[in-house]
Amino acid sequence: MPRGPNPFAWRPRPPYISAMTDSAPKLNDFLPGGPMAAPAAGSRTELVGLTRAELVREMERLGEKRFRADQIFNWIYFRGVTDFAAMTDISKALRARLAETCSIGRPHVVTAQVSQDGTRKWLLRLADGNEVETVFIPEEERGTLCVSSQVGCTLTCSFCHTGTQAWVRNLTAGEIAGQVMMARDALGEWPTPSDDRQITNVVFMGMGEPLFNYDHVKAAVDLIKDEKGLNFSRRRVTLSTSGIVPEIRRAGAEMRVMLAISLHAVRDALRDELVPVNRRWPLAALLAACRDYPSLSNARRITFEYVMLKGVNDSDADARELLRLLEGIPSKINLIPFNPWPGSRYETSAPERVQRFGEIIRSAGIMATVRTPRGQDIAAACGQLKSESVRIPGWKRRGETKEDHARA
Ligand code: SF4
Repeated sequence: MPRGPNPFAWRPRPPYISAMTDSAPKLNDFLPGGPMAAPAAGSRTELVGLTRAELVREMERLGEKRFRADQIFNWIYFRGVTDFAAMTDISKALRARLAETCSIGRPHVVTAQVSQDGTRKWLLRLADGNEVETVFIPEEERGTLCVSSQVGCTLTCSFCHTGTQAWVRNLTAGEIAGQVMMARDALGEWPTPSDDRQITNVVFMGMGEPLFNYDHVKAAVDLIKDEKGLNFSRRRVTLSTSGIVPEIRRAGAEMRVMLAISLHAVRDALRDELVPVNRRWPLAALLAACRDYPSLSNARRITFEYVMLKGVNDSDADARELLRLLEGIPSKINLIPFNPWPGSRYETSAPERVQRFGEIIRSAGIMATVRTPRGQDIAAACGQLKSESVRIPGWKRRGETKEDHARA
């Protein structure tokens, strides 16, 4: 498969795509020329990130029959081709036209690191120069790809390294699905039957709060779950949220994937500090949303992530309060020994403390697993992701000087 330097070159998207995006800043808000800058003459439409319906409209725009969209969808998302010339069931004339007017991109891989334990971390550069990280964690029974949904994060969870990086922008559906496609490139997984893949699960636990980028995450999840595309079962896709209560129910109804909650504290005063979004949606509201999560059952339990911080949230009383809070919610608890990062103010709980905490949970019949730290030597472990991207102020994007901006 052609790879080359493979820049995920930004291309203008058809107007119907702009219409579906949310009020959050859009990709081209951050390009030279400012928001909704006019597409450059001769530029091409990026097909990665288009849903089936959007691809049908794109084919119609090119004067082609609708079924062409299915063929192209299969080549892009099932076979993983990046060159129109490889689409052998499409006429040569159409292939040439597609090559002139469209592109099939990937994020540009800046660095690819492999940890001693086999964990892989990629630093990816997007078309506008911003960077995000994607991590692959191989285990005996499964392989989990951890994708990012934003550049930076609007939230400032005090134990999380990403939280020290200011939010820059939301990722597009293509940039999110593109992380899965890049990983399949790197692991040589095109096209592979689902029972023979290294990447078996996709989790939205990388950089960013996915429910603050709802529309693009939903579009990406649709591509990831599509049986004729990337083809992950919805039980193998997990959305992890810090607790954006109004979007939790909506995600359950519309995306129907597994849910994980970054809980980390059992009392509002402490959770306000660890996960500041708790001030907006406190524990009672969050747990009510969890109880209402559509199709919640023993087979589809909610995972509660709980980072173990020495002397902060790891007492026996905390464990017992956790059990009380989760009563009636089919749950499993993921205890995460804190992964230190430069400048962090917390220490990780002693292994015996983590073990004791887990025993209290398990003695009540609730599954509690202790997450083995992975990829620590390449800073790929949970809560350690961070890129160097910084938000470019509006005046700079518009090509103004700071002084012009101050005068305006
Ligand atoms: S834990 Fe998640 S939501 Fe909180 S700062 Fe880190 S990336 Fe953002």
